[in-house]
Amino acid sequence: MAEFYVEINAQSNGDHVVHKADCAHLPAKETIQYLGAISNCNSALKKAGQLFRQVNGCTHCSVSSHTA
Ligand SMILES: [Zn+2]
Repeated sequence: MAEFYVEINAQSNGDHVVHKADCAHLPAKETIQYLGAISNCNSALKKAGQLFRQVNGCTHCSVSSHTA
């Protein structure tokens, strides 16, 4: 299990990026929403998708769930 967060602010392409808690690129905590302790990136992405219409995995910490 890992703890995941999703960025509240969308990127310029509309993506809300999902990060692991220990990612070096995790933004300030005021701008992220806690998703919970989740077993894998894809499940975290699904959970984030319930909050935001367009989500994507971080290219640094969630490479396996990142889609270009
Ligand atoms: Zn990240």
